[in-house]
Amino acid sequence: MQKHPELPQAFADLGIEVRFLKALQRMEFSKPSDIQAGMIPPAMEGKDILGQARTGTGKTAAFGLPILQKLDPSKRLQALCLAPTRELAVQVAAELDRLSQFANLHIVSVYGGQKVATQLHNLGRKPQFVVGTPGRVMDFIRRRALDISQLKFVVLDEVDRMLDIGFRDDIKMILSHVRSDHQTIFVSATVEDEIRRLAMRYMNDPVELNVSRDKMTVDEVDQSYVTVDPGDKFRLLKLILEQEDPPFAIVFCNTKAAARKLARKLFDVGINAKEIHGDLMQRQRDRVMESFRKHRIRVLVATDLAARGIDVSSVTHIVNYDIPVDPEVYVHRIGRTARMGAKGVAITMVNRDEGNALTSIEMLINREVPQRQVAGFRPRPPAEKRETKTPVEQSAARSSQDSTTQGEPPKKTPRKTLGGAFPVRRKRRL
Ligand code: AMP
Repeated sequence: MQKHPELPQAFADLGIEVRFLKALQRMEFSKPSDIQAGMIPPAMEGKDILGQARTGTGKTAAFGLPILQKLDPSKRLQALCLAPTRELAVQVAAELDRLSQFANLHIVSVYGGQKVATQLHNLGRKPQFVVGTPGRVMDFIRRRALDISQLKFVVLDEVDRMLDIGFRDDIKMILSHVRSDHQTIFVSATVEDEIRRLAMRYMNDPVELNVSRDKMTVDEVDQSYVTVDPGDKFRLLKLILEQEDPPFAIVFCNTKAAARKLARKLFDVGINAKEIHGDLMQRQRDRVMESFRKHRIRVLVATDLAARGIDVSSVTHIVNYDIPVDPEVYVHRIGRTARMGAKGVAITMVNRDEGNALTSIEMLINREVPQRQVAGFRPRPPAEKRETKTPVEQSAARSSQDSTTQGEPPKKTPRKTLGGAFPVRRKRRL
């Protein structure tokens, strides 16, 4: 093999050609991430792959490089990648574009929310690779603007999210439109039975890879919680932003209305914040993401769906202004920081009624999230110290205390655990 001292040799060793090595060097990828080291070799051999990996692991280059390298620039559409959200589709297409900056390839993204005419025009420029959300891809197939019958490569990215969102039928329809022999790659953060069934139906003897980032995420993020009354959250957030002084942070809210209100309040006190959620028009969402990526926004106030797949490697802090109801969402949120090995900080605001939500998170990640003291912020004393408890409350408090002191096993078994050996309490008392 020819040596190119200035190019990333570890990628050359995986069989990546010089035109892509040059791009990798420019993108400052010096060595393959785990998923890249695991996926590139079988993908190069043309194997079908069921890969378990989250966004943030380098999965785009893992499936992207082997496919891009095999595309024929002189031919029409050869590869399709389906992604659950517009943001992810745009992001994957942008990464593929960067990877192919020295190859003569054309990548187009199609997704709902942008004018059909614009995307039709882009499709007319004969891309070799299309990245799109299932709904819009289906729409273009019906309009006969997209012919996927002769694809050589099909990727389903974040399959679990696509199924969550309800793209099941679209996905099946799309896959059934492909008539040619092709290689299929699924990437999913979780691989449950339904995904395995899809894989069995649409893949040929797939190689299974598991490079889930969960454990890495929880290990690499400095996590803590602060007890706060709902009415005090804004004051607490301001203090956190002052004291931690994060260059780039994402603040998560559970609802669109809360995100909108919070972004406005932050803006009003002079903090460079913008909101991103499903109520914004696609163009506005793109603009916000672009500004955040270019560091023109310091605080992004986001809801979960809008934040899915957000990949901005410079995010240092995640603040859960609202604790997520689903503990898996917590892991997903904190995965927005600590990208590619960088250290991140995640602070979760918890009010006194949300002890159980915190406990569920701790059970899932199998470690205790410590309480954080924020200078200048003193939460009001717990309700039981302020007011007389009813006998029912007293007994509830006693039984939860008992279970803590006697170390009873948790009632609910965690769906999965992520390393460590944290003796989980039954009920968190805040
Ligand atoms: P992904 O999981 O594909 O969304 O990638 C997450 C982030 O990591 C993106 O910003 C990539 O550009 C970056 N990245 C992917 N692979 C590498 C690598 N081998 N070295 C450094 N950065 C990488």
